[in-house]
Amino acid sequence: MQNHVKIFLFSDALGYEIVRRYNFMADEFPVRIPVRTQFGYSSTCVPTILTGEPPTRHGHFSFFYRPRGGKSPFSFFRFLHPFLHPSVVFDNHRIRHRLSVFLQRRFGFTGYFNIYRVPYARLPYFDYCEKQDIFALNGLAPVKNLRDILTEAGIPFHISDWHLSDDRNIGIARKLLEEERTEFFFIYTAGLDGMLHFHVNQPDVVAAALDAFASKIRTLLQTARAHSRDVDFCIFSDHGMTPLKGSVDLKSKLEALPLRFGHDYVACYDSTMLRVWFLNPDARGPILDAVSGAPGHWLTQDEKTVLHVNFSDASYGDEIFLLDPGIQVVPCDMGAKPIPGMHGFSPDDPDSTACFLSVRPLPENPHEIADFFRLMKHAAAELKSQPA
Ligand SMILES: [Zn+2]
Repeated sequence: MQNHVKIFLFSDALGYEIVRRYNFMADEFPVRIPVRTQFGYSSTCVPTILTGEPPTRHGHFSFFYRPRGGKSPFSFFRFLHPFLHPSVVFDNHRIRHRLSVFLQRRFGFTGYFNIYRVPYARLPYFDYCEKQDIFALNGLAPVKNLRDILTEAGIPFHISDWHLSDDRNIGIARKLLEEERTEFFFIYTAGLDGMLHFHVNQPDVVAAALDAFASKIRTLLQTARAHSRDVDFCIFSDHGMTPLKGSVDLKSKLEALPLRFGHDYVACYDSTMLRVWFLNPDARGPILDAVSGAPGHWLTQDEKTVLHVNFSDASYGDEIFLLDPGIQVVPCDMGAKPIPGMHGFSPDDPDSTACFLSVRPLPENPHEIADFFRLMKHAAAELKSQPA
Protein backbone atom coordinates (compact mmCIF):
# COMPACT_ATOMS: atom_id res chain seq x y z
CA MET A 1 0.00 0.00 0.00
CA GLN A 2 1.32 3.42 -1.00
CA ASN A 3 0.73 6.62 0.93
CA HIS A 4 -0.08 8.90 -2.05
CA VAL A 5 -0.84 8.81 -5.76
CA LYS A 6 -1.74 11.75 -7.95
CA ILE A 7 -3.34 10.91 -11.28
CA PHE A 8 -3.85 13.42 -14.11
CA LEU A 9 -5.81 11.94 -16.98
CA PHE A 10 -5.74 13.97 -20.17
CA SER A 11 -8.68 13.42 -22.52
CA ASP A 12 -8.33 15.15 -25.88
CA ALA A 13 -11.52 17.10 -26.81
CA LEU A 14 -13.57 16.21 -23.70
CA GLY A 15 -15.09 19.71 -23.63
CA TYR A 16 -17.02 21.15 -20.70
CA GLU A 17 -20.25 21.29 -22.76
CA ILE A 18 -20.07 17.53 -23.39
CA VAL A 19 -19.25 16.83 -19.74
CA ARG A 20 -22.19 18.98 -18.63
CA ARG A 21 -24.71 17.70 -21.16
CA TYR A 22 -23.95 14.02 -20.54
CA ASN A 23 -23.29 14.44 -16.81
CA PHE A 24 -20.02 12.60 -17.34
CA MET A 25 -18.90 10.79 -14.14
CA ALA A 26 -20.59 13.35 -11.87
CA ASP A 27 -20.73 10.79 -9.04
CA GLU A 28 -16.97 10.25 -8.83
CA PHE A 29 -15.85 13.73 -9.87
CA PRO A 30 -17.89 16.33 -7.95
CA VAL A 31 -15.47 19.18 -8.77
CA ARG A 32 -16.39 20.27 -12.31
CA ILE A 33 -14.88 23.40 -13.77
CA PRO A 34 -15.09 25.00 -17.24
CA VAL A 35 -11.60 26.03 -18.35
CA ARG A 36 -10.74 28.50 -21.13
CA THR A 37 -8.93 26.79 -23.98
CA GLN A 38 -5.88 28.14 -25.82
CA PHE A 39 -6.67 29.34 -29.35
CA GLY A 40 -5.25 26.83 -31.84
CA TYR A 41 -5.39 23.07 -32.27
CA SER A 42 -4.08 20.24 -30.11
CA SER A 43 -0.71 21.11 -31.65
CA THR A 44 -0.90 24.34 -29.57
CA CYS A 45 -2.98 23.22 -26.60
CA VAL A 46 -0.94 20.16 -25.62
CA PRO A 47 2.40 22.07 -25.51
CA THR A 48 0.59 24.75 -23.46
CA ILE A 49 -0.55 22.10 -20.94
CA LEU A 50 2.90 20.48 -20.89
CA THR A 51 4.71 23.77 -20.15
CA GLY A 52 2.21 26.24 -18.68
CA GLU A 53 3.47 28.72 -21.27
CA PRO A 54 1.64 30.47 -24.13
CA PRO A 55 2.37 29.62 -27.80
CA THR A 56 4.50 32.75 -28.14
CA ARG A 57 6.85 31.20 -25.54
CA HIS A 58 6.80 27.47 -26.43
CA GLY A 59 6.66 28.26 -30.16
CA HIS A 60 3.95 25.76 -31.20
CA PHE A 61 0.82 26.95 -32.94
CA SER A 62 -0.46 25.33 -36.12
CA PHE A 63 1.70 22.54 -37.59
CA PHE A 64 2.98 24.49 -40.60
CA TYR A 65 4.85 27.77 -40.26
CA ARG A 66 7.24 29.91 -42.29
CA PRO A 67 10.85 29.52 -41.23
CA ARG A 68 12.27 33.04 -40.95
CA GLY A 69 15.86 32.96 -42.16
CA GLY A 70 15.76 29.16 -41.89
CA LYS A 71 15.37 26.61 -44.62
CA SER A 72 12.30 24.44 -45.11
CA PRO A 73 13.03 20.75 -44.56
CA PHE A 74 10.75 20.14 -47.55
CA SER A 75 12.70 22.30 -50.02
CA PHE A 76 13.54 19.27 -52.18
CA PHE A 77 9.85 19.10 -53.15
CA ARG A 78 10.61 22.05 -55.42
CA PHE A 79 12.48 19.62 -57.64
CA LEU A 80 10.39 16.59 -56.91
CA HIS A 81 6.84 17.79 -57.24
CA PRO A 82 6.72 18.06 -61.07
CA PHE A 83 7.42 14.29 -61.12
CA LEU A 84 4.65 13.60 -58.67
CA HIS A 85 1.95 14.75 -61.08
CA PRO A 86 -0.78 14.08 -61.85
CA SER A 87 -1.74 15.19 -58.37
CA VAL A 88 -5.03 13.30 -58.55
CA VAL A 89 -3.05 10.08 -58.32
CA PHE A 90 -0.48 11.22 -55.82
CA ASP A 91 -2.90 13.15 -53.66
CA ASN A 92 -4.29 9.77 -52.73
CA HIS A 93 -4.64 9.47 -48.95
CA ARG A 94 -2.66 6.24 -48.65
CA ILE A 95 0.25 7.57 -50.65
CA ARG A 96 0.29 10.74 -48.56
CA HIS A 97 0.30 8.67 -45.40
CA ARG A 98 3.23 6.60 -46.68
CA LEU A 99 5.01 9.76 -47.70
CA SER A 100 4.52 11.21 -44.19
CA VAL A 101 6.05 8.05 -42.69
CA PHE A 102 8.94 8.17 -45.18
CA LEU A 103 9.68 11.85 -44.44
CA GLN A 104 9.44 11.25 -40.70
CA ARG A 105 12.11 8.52 -40.94
CA ARG A 106 14.22 10.42 -43.43
CA PHE A 107 14.44 13.49 -41.16
CA GLY A 108 14.41 11.59 -37.87
CA PHE A 109 11.31 13.48 -36.65
CA THR A 110 10.17 12.05 -33.31
CA GLY A 111 7.01 14.15 -32.89
CA TYR A 112 3.57 13.71 -34.42
CA PHE A 113 4.10 14.22 -38.13
CA ASN A 114 1.55 14.39 -40.93
CA ILE A 115 1.69 16.38 -44.17
CA TYR A 116 -2.09 16.06 -44.42
CA ARG A 117 -3.30 17.48 -47.75
CA VAL A 118 -0.83 20.34 -48.14
CA PRO A 119 -0.09 20.34 -51.89
CA TYR A 120 3.42 19.07 -52.62
CA ALA A 121 4.28 22.26 -54.51
CA ARG A 122 3.52 24.29 -51.36
CA LEU A 123 5.51 22.23 -48.87
CA PRO A 124 8.84 23.99 -49.66
CA TYR A 125 7.36 27.21 -48.27
CA PHE A 126 6.86 25.72 -44.82
CA ASP A 127 8.54 24.18 -41.85
CA TYR A 128 6.75 21.89 -39.39
CA CYS A 129 6.59 22.73 -35.67
CA GLU A 130 6.30 19.29 -34.07
CA LYS A 131 9.51 17.70 -35.33
CA GLN A 132 10.48 16.61 -31.80
CA ASP A 133 8.53 14.47 -29.36
CA ILE A 134 7.05 17.21 -27.14
CA PHE A 135 6.58 14.72 -24.24
CA ALA A 136 10.26 13.71 -24.21
CA LEU A 137 12.97 15.14 -21.96
CA ASN A 138 13.82 18.62 -23.34
CA GLY A 139 11.03 18.06 -25.88
CA LEU A 140 10.01 21.73 -25.77
CA ALA A 141 13.41 23.25 -24.89
CA PRO A 142 14.37 25.90 -24.03
CA VAL A 143 11.02 25.89 -22.18
CA LYS A 144 10.74 23.16 -19.54
CA ASN A 145 8.05 20.56 -20.07
CA LEU A 146 6.29 18.19 -17.68
CA ARG A 147 8.92 15.44 -18.02
CA ASP A 148 11.72 17.92 -17.32
CA ILE A 149 10.17 19.16 -14.06
CA LEU A 150 9.16 15.68 -12.87
CA THR A 151 12.66 14.39 -13.54
CA GLU A 152 14.11 17.32 -11.60
CA ALA A 153 11.67 16.69 -8.73
CA GLY A 154 13.04 13.16 -8.49
CA ILE A 155 9.66 11.58 -7.74
CA PRO A 156 8.58 8.24 -9.26
CA PHE A 157 6.37 9.25 -12.19
CA HIS A 158 4.82 7.85 -15.34
CA ILE A 159 3.85 9.74 -18.52
CA SER A 160 1.88 7.72 -21.08
CA ASP A 161 3.26 7.07 -24.53
CA TRP A 162 1.06 9.10 -26.89
CA HIS A 163 1.68 6.57 -29.70
CA LEU A 164 -0.32 3.92 -27.81
CA SER A 165 -4.08 3.37 -27.73
CA ASP A 166 -6.19 4.62 -24.82
CA ASP A 167 -6.76 1.03 -23.66
CA ARG A 168 -3.03 0.33 -23.61
CA ASN A 169 -2.28 3.54 -21.75
CA ILE A 170 -4.99 2.95 -19.16
CA GLY A 171 -3.88 -0.70 -18.83
CA ILE A 172 -0.24 0.29 -18.25
CA ALA A 173 -1.24 2.87 -15.62
CA ARG A 174 -3.36 0.26 -13.85
CA LYS A 175 -0.49 -2.21 -13.73
CA LEU A 176 1.84 0.47 -12.33
CA LEU A 177 -0.73 1.33 -9.65
CA GLU A 178 -0.82 -2.35 -8.64
CA GLU A 179 2.96 -2.39 -8.39
CA GLU A 180 2.75 0.51 -5.88
CA ARG A 181 5.94 2.22 -6.95
CA THR A 182 4.71 5.19 -9.02
CA GLU A 183 3.28 8.29 -7.35
CA PHE A 184 2.58 10.68 -10.23
CA PHE A 185 0.67 9.73 -13.39
CA PHE A 186 -0.01 11.67 -16.57
CA ILE A 187 -2.27 9.42 -18.61
CA TYR A 188 -2.76 10.40 -22.24
CA THR A 189 -5.97 9.54 -24.09
CA ALA A 190 -7.16 10.78 -27.49
CA GLY A 191 -9.96 8.37 -28.38
CA LEU A 192 -12.81 10.79 -27.64
CA ASP A 193 -11.36 13.39 -30.04
CA GLY A 194 -11.58 10.99 -32.98
CA MET A 195 -15.11 9.93 -32.02
CA LEU A 196 -16.41 13.49 -31.46
CA HIS A 197 -15.06 14.80 -34.78
CA PHE A 198 -17.44 12.42 -36.54
CA HIS A 199 -20.30 11.87 -34.06
CA VAL A 200 -20.65 15.01 -31.94
CA ASN A 201 -24.27 15.39 -33.09
CA GLN A 202 -25.26 11.78 -32.44
CA PRO A 203 -26.23 11.64 -28.74
CA ASP A 204 -26.51 7.82 -28.69
CA VAL A 205 -23.01 7.34 -30.08
CA VAL A 206 -21.51 9.97 -27.77
CA ALA A 207 -23.30 8.59 -24.69
CA ALA A 208 -22.11 5.04 -25.44
CA ALA A 209 -18.50 6.18 -25.98
CA LEU A 210 -18.57 8.23 -22.76
CA ASP A 211 -19.99 5.25 -20.82
CA ALA A 212 -17.26 2.97 -22.13
CA PHE A 213 -14.61 5.54 -21.25
CA ALA A 214 -16.11 6.12 -17.79
CA SER A 215 -16.08 2.43 -16.95
CA LYS A 216 -12.33 2.26 -17.73
CA ILE A 217 -11.71 5.30 -15.54
CA ARG A 218 -13.79 3.76 -12.72
CA THR A 219 -11.65 0.63 -12.78
CA LEU A 220 -8.53 2.77 -12.68
CA LEU A 221 -9.89 4.76 -9.74
CA GLN A 222 -10.77 1.56 -7.86
CA THR A 223 -7.28 0.18 -8.48
CA ALA A 224 -5.73 3.43 -7.22
CA ARG A 225 -7.87 3.33 -4.05
CA ALA A 226 -7.01 -0.32 -3.44
CA HIS A 227 -3.28 0.42 -3.58
CA SER A 228 -2.91 3.88 -2.09
CA ARG A 229 -4.20 5.53 1.09
CA ASP A 230 -4.54 8.95 -0.50
CA VAL A 231 -5.73 9.33 -4.09
CA ASP A 232 -5.93 12.52 -6.10
CA PHE A 233 -7.56 11.96 -9.48
CA CYS A 234 -8.21 14.69 -12.07
CA ILE A 235 -9.45 14.54 -15.64
CA PHE A 236 -8.83 17.45 -17.97
CA SER A 237 -8.99 18.32 -21.63
CA ASP A 238 -7.36 20.72 -24.07
CA HIS A 239 -10.51 21.97 -25.84
CA GLY A 240 -14.04 20.92 -26.75
CA MET A 241 -15.72 20.09 -30.05
CA THR A 242 -17.90 22.51 -32.02
CA PRO A 243 -20.65 21.05 -34.24
CA LEU A 244 -20.53 21.93 -37.94
CA LYS A 245 -22.64 24.96 -38.90
CA GLY A 246 -21.38 25.55 -42.41
CA SER A 247 -18.30 25.81 -44.57
CA VAL A 248 -16.59 28.36 -46.77
CA ASP A 249 -14.13 28.00 -49.64
CA LEU A 250 -11.47 30.61 -48.86
CA LYS A 251 -8.99 29.03 -51.25
CA SER A 252 -11.08 29.85 -54.31
CA LYS A 253 -11.46 33.44 -53.11
CA LEU A 254 -7.68 33.87 -53.02
CA GLU A 255 -7.06 31.95 -56.21
CA ALA A 256 -9.58 34.11 -58.10
CA LEU A 257 -7.31 37.12 -57.52
CA PRO A 258 -4.65 38.07 -60.09
CA LEU A 259 -1.96 37.08 -57.58
CA ARG A 260 0.47 34.19 -57.46
CA PHE A 261 1.12 31.84 -54.54
CA GLY A 262 4.82 31.92 -53.68
CA HIS A 263 5.32 35.17 -55.54
CA ASP A 264 2.75 37.58 -54.07
CA TYR A 265 1.63 35.63 -51.03
CA VAL A 266 1.85 32.35 -49.14
CA ALA A 267 -1.22 30.89 -47.45
CA CYS A 268 -2.01 28.06 -45.11
CA TYR A 269 -5.59 26.80 -45.03
CA ASP A 270 -6.17 25.34 -41.56
CA SER A 271 -9.56 23.79 -40.66
CA THR A 272 -10.90 26.93 -38.97
CA MET A 273 -8.59 29.71 -40.12
CA LEU A 274 -6.61 31.11 -43.00
CA ARG A 275 -3.08 32.29 -42.32
CA VAL A 276 -1.45 34.53 -44.93
CA TRP A 277 2.04 35.91 -45.46
CA PHE A 278 2.41 38.80 -47.90
CA LEU A 279 5.48 38.54 -50.12
CA ASN A 280 4.36 41.49 -52.22
CA PRO A 281 2.98 44.37 -50.10
CA ASP A 282 0.46 45.18 -52.86
CA ALA A 283 -1.19 41.79 -52.29
CA ARG A 284 -2.33 42.73 -48.79
CA GLY A 285 -5.34 44.93 -49.66
CA PRO A 286 -6.88 42.64 -52.30
CA ILE A 287 -6.46 39.56 -50.09
CA LEU A 288 -7.94 41.22 -46.99
CA ASP A 289 -10.89 42.45 -49.09
CA ALA A 290 -11.45 39.14 -50.89
CA VAL A 291 -11.98 37.26 -47.63
CA SER A 292 -13.72 39.94 -45.57
CA GLY A 293 -17.26 38.92 -46.58
CA ALA A 294 -16.79 35.35 -45.27
CA PRO A 295 -18.32 34.34 -41.89
CA GLY A 296 -15.38 35.23 -39.67
CA HIS A 297 -12.93 38.07 -39.20
CA TRP A 298 -9.28 39.10 -39.50
CA LEU A 299 -7.76 39.04 -36.01
CA THR A 300 -6.69 42.46 -34.79
CA GLN A 301 -3.30 42.99 -33.18
CA ASP A 302 -5.02 43.26 -29.79
CA GLU A 303 -6.84 39.98 -30.29
CA LYS A 304 -3.61 38.24 -31.28
CA THR A 305 -2.06 39.52 -28.06
CA VAL A 306 -4.98 38.32 -25.92
CA LEU A 307 -4.94 34.93 -27.71
CA HIS A 308 -1.14 34.61 -27.21
CA VAL A 309 -0.44 34.27 -30.95
CA ASN A 310 1.26 37.64 -31.58
CA PHE A 311 4.49 36.00 -32.75
CA SER A 312 7.09 38.73 -33.17
CA ASP A 313 8.52 37.17 -36.36
CA ALA A 314 5.06 36.50 -37.88
CA SER A 315 6.22 32.91 -38.41
CA TYR A 316 2.60 31.73 -38.20
CA GLY A 317 1.23 34.35 -40.61
CA ASP A 318 1.21 38.10 -41.14
CA GLU A 319 -2.58 37.97 -40.81
CA ILE A 320 -5.01 35.36 -39.55
CA PHE A 321 -8.64 35.10 -40.67
CA LEU A 322 -10.58 33.12 -38.05
CA LEU A 323 -13.96 31.66 -38.97
CA ASP A 324 -17.02 31.95 -36.72
CA PRO A 325 -17.62 28.97 -34.40
CA GLY A 326 -18.87 25.96 -36.37
CA ILE A 327 -17.83 27.22 -39.82
CA GLN A 328 -15.05 25.18 -41.46
CA VAL A 329 -12.56 26.03 -44.20
CA VAL A 330 -13.38 23.63 -47.06
CA PRO A 331 -11.28 22.54 -48.80
CA CYS A 332 -8.44 23.02 -46.35
CA ASP A 333 -4.95 21.61 -45.98
CA MET A 334 -6.24 19.00 -43.54
CA GLY A 335 -9.17 17.62 -45.52
CA ALA A 336 -11.34 18.02 -48.62
CA LYS A 337 -14.72 17.80 -46.91
CA PRO A 338 -16.36 19.31 -43.83
CA ILE A 339 -16.65 16.97 -40.86
CA PRO A 340 -19.42 16.95 -38.20
CA GLY A 341 -17.22 18.47 -35.48
CA MET A 342 -14.11 20.63 -35.32
CA HIS A 343 -12.07 22.59 -32.80
CA GLY A 344 -9.76 25.55 -33.24
CA PHE A 345 -12.33 28.34 -32.96
CA SER A 346 -12.37 31.33 -30.61
CA PRO A 347 -11.83 30.35 -26.95
CA ASP A 348 -14.98 32.43 -26.25
CA ASP A 349 -17.08 29.80 -28.09
CA PRO A 350 -18.78 27.72 -25.32
CA ASP A 351 -18.35 24.48 -27.30
CA SER A 352 -14.58 25.09 -27.34
CA THR A 353 -14.31 25.30 -23.54
CA ALA A 354 -12.13 22.63 -21.91
CA CYS A 355 -12.96 20.90 -18.63
CA PHE A 356 -11.37 20.09 -15.32
CA LEU A 357 -12.86 17.35 -13.15
CA SER A 358 -11.53 16.29 -9.79
CA VAL A 359 -12.47 13.85 -7.04
CA ARG A 360 -11.95 16.62 -4.48
CA PRO A 361 -11.52 20.40 -4.28
CA LEU A 362 -8.15 21.95 -5.02
CA PRO A 363 -6.29 24.77 -3.30
CA GLU A 364 -6.80 26.82 -6.48
CA ASN A 365 -9.08 26.31 -9.46
CA PRO A 366 -7.68 26.36 -13.02
CA HIS A 367 -8.98 29.18 -15.26
CA GLU A 368 -7.13 28.43 -18.49
CA ILE A 369 -5.52 25.24 -19.75
CA ALA A 370 -2.00 26.55 -19.04
CA ASP A 371 -2.97 26.34 -15.34
CA PHE A 372 -3.00 22.52 -15.59
CA PHE A 373 0.78 22.63 -15.74
CA ARG A 374 0.92 24.67 -12.54
CA LEU A 375 -1.42 22.20 -10.81
CA MET A 376 0.80 19.30 -11.86
CA LYS A 377 3.93 21.13 -10.76
CA HIS A 378 2.33 21.84 -7.41
CA ALA A 379 1.33 18.17 -7.08
CA ALA A 380 4.91 17.09 -7.85
CA ALA A 381 6.25 19.46 -5.16
CA GLU A 382 3.73 18.06 -2.67
CA LEU A 383 4.77 14.49 -3.38
CA LYS A 384 8.41 15.44 -3.01
CA SER A 385 7.77 16.88 0.44
CA GLN A 386 5.71 13.91 1.67
CA PRO A 387 7.04 10.48 2.67
CA ALA A 388 6.24 7.83 0.03
ZN1 LIG B 1 -9.22 16.82 -32.90
